[in-house]
Amino acid sequence: MEQKTVVEIECPKCGSSGKASVKVFIDAQSDPRGRKNLLAGKLNRYRCRGCGFTDSVPAGVIYHDPEKRFCVQYVPRWLTEQDEFLDQLDEAARPVIFEDESWGGIPAYLRDVHVVLSLSELANYVVFRERLWKRRVSSVQGLVVCFCCDRSIEHGERYFCVSRVVRERGSGRLQEDRIVDSTASLQVCADCRKKAGSGPVSFSYAPLPLLHLEQEGFRRFAAQHGNWESLRRQDSPCGDACTLCGTAPAPGRKYVTIELSEETYSPEGAQTIAVHAELATLCGPCSERYLVWLSLEDDSGQQAAESRAG
Ligand SMILES: [Zn+2]
Ligand SMILES: [Zn+2]
Ligand SMILES: [Zn+2]
Repeated sequence: MEQKTVVEIECPKCGSSGKASVKVFIDAQSDPRGRKNLLAGKLNRYRCRGCGFTDSVPAGVIYHDPEKRFCVQYVPRWLTEQDEFLDQLDEAARPVIFEDESWGGIPAYLRDVHVVLSLSELANYVVFRERLWKRRVSSVQGLVVCFCCDRSIEHGERYFCVSRVVRERGSGRLQEDRIVDSTASLQVCADCRKKAGSGPVSFSYAPLPLLHLEQEGFRRFAAQHGNWESLRRQDSPCGDACTLCGTAPAPGRKYVTIELSEETYSPEGAQTIAVHAELATLCGPCSERYLVWLSLEDDSGQQAAESRAG
């Protein structure tokens, strides 16, 4: 689709006529500058050569984001008063061209173009859809966003992370515990960590319900700049009893440690720079009970399944 067109403009202030080059189509992937201009309110601005008056050009714009799968069309008001334009829409304001059979192979979202009536509404709608997408993707694919301010962590940027690490206790005397799985429950950018050190912050963008000890552990860490006492029980002889019930994980059994680390993110994945602290240890039963989403698929579960089957 042609991205730009030239329109004749008559200055509403001094009446002199001129030409303006306007963008009528923005593809978010191939035209990040167009997107940026739209969000900054700089898209399709016109400056009169006669008197210097500036205004936005009332030219329609189609915005398409193939990655986030949405398409939105800005229809300027004058166009909504044109019968020829109205005749191109069905009663649900969808372009009738999409009912044509030649459009049969196009993605469904392109048949459902959202219509807005001002450029600022277009910008707001784009921000809304990007936010929605980020929210969905961050919970599905683990894209790194700060759970305090909702900002995306840039590649190479350091951030703080609370992880739930599933481990299996070694069964023999020589056998070491092994890591089975790991999930981040809290991700915080460096700026928000600083804020957390001097006042209350909320983790409103966390996709999973957080344990009090995860939030509190992070706050203490942030306030004491690393020089702090972990929430781990001090009274356990081997130092790894369950923080909640005091039971030590049995050999061969899974348990969870909650760790606070500093990480960096690249397209290949997250990399741990340093583990600052172990906030807590949770035995298998406590993990299953308080980390509701987490299944340790323990022997006990398997036995229960077998007994149900038999
Ligand atoms: Zn003018
Ligand atoms: Zn942040
Ligand atoms: Zn426990």
